Amino acid sequence: MTEVREFTELKDQLFEMRRDLLRRIGNIEKHRFRDDGPLPADWDEQAQELENDEVLTALDDSSRKELIQINAALSRMESGEYGDCVECGEEIATKRLMALPYATLCIACAQSHE
Ligand SMILES: [Zn+2]
Repeated sequence: MTEVREFTELKDQLFEMRRDLLRRIGNIEKHRFRDDGPLPADWDEQAQELENDEVLTALDDSSRKELIQINAALSRMESGEYGDCVECGEEIATKRLMALPYATLCIACAQSHE
């Protein structure tokens, strides 16, 4: 398992990435409704309470995939499976996780898919 300190860093990073994505949804929504008023201050909170489907349809394809991967990584953190390769079960190198916090495959497995 990844060191606790690194684990916390990765978790922060994932939350940050999710916040950015949700903020992007905020901009999309704003544009869509041609609303020139400021977004509600508690937008982050509201966006997180939205049904997944609503959040996902507001995003473009790549952002949608990213959000799904981020959410999956966060739930793996909760279940204690985070950091293990989903294919071979080996630990994913911390360096790789730092570069790609929602990686699900170790380098060897990822390369075998290329
Ligand atoms: Zn692997």
